[in-house]
Amino acid sequence: MLRVAVGMLSQETNVFNPSPTTIEHFEASGILFGDEVFKRWRNVGEVGGFIKASEEERDVHLVPIMSASAMPWGKCNAETHKFLKEKFLEELRKAGEVDGILLAMHGAMTAEDEYDVEGDLLDEIRKEWGEDVLIAISLDHHGNITERMVKAVDALVGYHTEPHVDMFETGYKVAKILFSALKGLVKPVITWRKLPMIASGDLRVPGGPLEEFFRKAEEYERLREIISVSIFPENPYIDSPELGWSVVVVADGNRSLAQKIADELAKGIWNKRYLFLPKRGASPREAVERALKVKGGPVVLSDWSDATNSGAPGDGTAILKELLKHNDELSEKAMITITDPEAVDEAIRAGVGNEVTVEVGGKIDRVHSQPVEVTGRVKTISDGRFIVKGPMEKKFEANMKRTVVLEVGNIYIVVSESTGPAHDPSLYRSVGLEPRDAKIVVVKSPMGFRAAYEPFAKEIIIVHGPGAATPDLKSLNYKTIPRPIFPLDEDVSFEPLNNE
Ligand SMILES: [Zn+2]
Repeated sequence: MLRVAVGMLSQETNVFNPSPTTIEHFEASGILFGDEVFKRWRNVGEVGGFIKASEEERDVHLVPIMSASAMPWGKCNAETHKFLKEKFLEELRKAGEVDGILLAMHGAMTAEDEYDVEGDLLDEIRKEWGEDVLIAISLDHHGNITERMVKAVDALVGYHTEPHVDMFETGYKVAKILFSALKGLVKPVITWRKLPMIASGDLRVPGGPLEEFFRKAEEYERLREIISVSIFPENPYIDSPELGWSVVVVADGNRSLAQKIADELAKGIWNKRYLFLPKRGASPREAVERALKVKGGPVVLSDWSDATNSGAPGDGTAILKELLKHNDELSEKAMITITDPEAVDEAIRAGVGNEVTVEVGGKIDRVHSQPVEVTGRVKTISDGRFIVKGPMEKKFEANMKRTVVLEVGNIYIVVSESTGPAHDPSLYRSVGLEPRDAKIVVVKSPMGFRAAYEPFAKEIIIVHGPGAATPDLKSLNYKTIPRPIFPLDEDVSFEPLNNE
């Protein structure tokens, strides 16, 4: 019987969100050990895919060790990082002798004391468990691939979709690769190519300019000697000396073919790099004015810059201010989310049905917005827990902590202590609001919302206001990223060379 340890460590960091990710953020999503891991993740996400793949094998036994995930937010503080790393290694030791290690990770997790949390952990695991144990990982499409990650693992596979609707499938795929390798059916080798490029434009797959490269990747995957091809347009909101897009190819023994494919794809993407620059979005004012002119609804305003899915705090008030100005013109409801624990507290003290005057938002990210005073009725109070309907993050357990709905005329402000899955309408539905019936729905998600919202949105307006996840990367205060880099610098050259 092959014994394979299974774990999950996942968070996407936005270093421009000034508030650190702490142990409480991970506890809100749940830090689980042993059998609890499988109880939570069976049929869900990458770990669900690992389990499914193992059930198709007669001779594989999975040993769940630990799962820890948190919503996208600021850098992990050093204490949280230390706890997670030590605990992970400790739980892995408890698993006893294993043949393989299978991990679900994000790939863009950053801590105050470590710019590459995953790479650092994988490096430690490889050192302690040695070369005889095979390690395979799944990563988010927004993972920032580093030298340490690639060196430490035997296989590495990223999502092929944006919005990410293939988490389960990616888990299944990487698990199958690991099992085949453990049985000696394949001999995985990894090669990769880093591009001197970051981007924040349309990364949709399918639907955007990246699609042709993912289709090519899938064609390559059909080659006998190629096991997997992953393209990582990464998360541009981390400040890493290794920041940039990557192509990673896992081959069965044939390293030179793998390198050639990585280079070809990287070069193809590079040649079309201008297609990945963001198109100009509407200002908050333009967006609200345009939405009001649309006949019917709902008009979905995608707040790119304050996107909690990109790690912004979600307390930006730029769009809220515009909605308040036009409150009288709203024929139907407008809905928006704001992260603000203090305002939640004040509303709860006022109680359901009562009127309250409170300053909302603008307290976490003070650089990009200011609090706005509103007077409204406390419509509901809830615990902020619900199940995500999907298709993205289907069946994930959300926990926004204590959440209130403030009714200010026709504007319904969902104020929560923590952020929620902004891409999914179940966020609003969990507090009794139906986005289908709204005139305007603000979603703090740049891409992911399309999976669930596009089918019923009357119109979608991309909003580029102020915020920690601004698409204007030139305005961000990067300190350690490699330069020159596209699109921040003019004189960037890229000529991938064949290593062989
Ligand atoms: Zn992602």
